[in-house]
Amino acid sequence: RGANESNSSLPRGANESNSSLPKAQKVDLGVPLFELSMNNQTISQEGTGKISILSPADLEVAEVTAEPGVARTGASTDFSRMTPLPKGTRAAITGREGEWIRLDYGAWIRASEVRIVKDAVPPRSIVRSARSRQVAGWTEILFPLEIPVPVTVQEGDKTFNLTLYNTTAQTDIIRLDDDPVIARLAWQQISPLQVQYTFNLKSAQQWGYKLRYDGTTLVLSLKHPPAKTSAMPNSQGKPLSGIKILIDPGHGGPQDLGAVSPVGIREKTVALTVSKLVRDELVNRGANVVMTRVEDVDLDLPPRVEMIQKEEPAIAISIHYNALPDNGDAINTKGVGAFWFHPQAHSLGMFLHNYLVAKLNRPSYGVFWNNLAMTRPAVAPSVLMELGFMINPEEFEWIVNPTEQKKLAEAIAQGITEWFASVQ
Ligand SMILES: [Zn+2]
Repeated sequence: RGANESNSSLPRGANESNSSLPKAQKVDLGVPLFELSMNNQTISQEGTGKISILSPADLEVAEVTAEPGVARTGASTDFSRMTPLPKGTRAAITGREGEWIRLDYGAWIRASEVRIVKDAVPPRSIVRSARSRQVAGWTEILFPLEIPVPVTVQEGDKTFNLTLYNTTAQTDIIRLDDDPVIARLAWQQISPLQVQYTFNLKSAQQWGYKLRYDGTTLVLSLKHPPAKTSAMPNSQGKPLSGIKILIDPGHGGPQDLGAVSPVGIREKTVALTVSKLVRDELVNRGANVVMTRVEDVDLDLPPRVEMIQKEEPAIAISIHYNALPDNGDAINTKGVGAFWFHPQAHSLGMFLHNYLVAKLNRPSYGVFWNNLAMTRPAVAPSVLMELGFMINPEEFEWIVNPTEQKKLAEAIAQGITEWFASVQ
């Protein structure tokens, strides 16, 4: 409970700055005093900080300089990530807390990821048109704006929603010819300053998206589905011909060992061994496989993510084995887990999890929505697999058995193949 309706709870000092009101300057209201009335008792407490009413003309405008800016629901990394803001995005600053600033559409961003710019305040845009064009493997939809406004994305079943904040529509006509991905485009002004575009899609499976600002034009790119395997020449026995798959063996190098088993065998080693077996199985099926590492080398998460963004594979799979915190139950915790973040990765994660559990008779650890570095790339369905628990003595025997590793790799490659056939 915070400030209540009683007049006595008005912050002290509320009248001190009234003389500056006509000029619409910042009005300092001083320290807030909170009152709580309950069971005929009233307690009051002075708040921390000071309350000011800012004139819109006093607001500063932030421009995102990071590529992209990380938008969050609150002023620390504990808060959830929102759709990243493309470089160049502008919004008014409506609050500050430590190294964080609050943007007018509701998100927080690190001050180090923006610069302060002179701009009309508050920054607003009109959207008059949208048009599309096709580039290799992608459809680009261009929204010419007056300033680069904040955006959010939401994927659904056969829909892709793009919301533009601080934006008002004056849209009369949108040309959208037949497209490999988009069946139809609808839009509405969902509130006075929010325009939402709903792309109705031809397929339930989405293959990736990108957002960027080209000057003040917002460019949304939607990835085309990979070529249908049946249509490929010489596809007999090579069902994944023409399909690029990125495999990321987790961890690596002298520092990042990953989970360590009771007998000292490391996750980084098993992950690399099995990833190479998976690669060979996928290549046998015709796939073009890209690996983030093929040796025991240091590789941070950002370069792995950059590789996914640069390669733009049809899918990306990160291979891991699990551990538990020190006091976890090592005997009873086991099984295969799959992690996804963007809805476009859900089907692949669920399919592979179910496939391994059924075909290899493995226990299920579960399928998780999880905001991980290796599930966050939006340019392709990106899944992280936890293939078993290093610290479970029984499961560990299975994890390090070379025959079982080969069977596991075959099952992963076959599961990927059958998943592609099921969504095309
Ligand atoms: Zn790991």
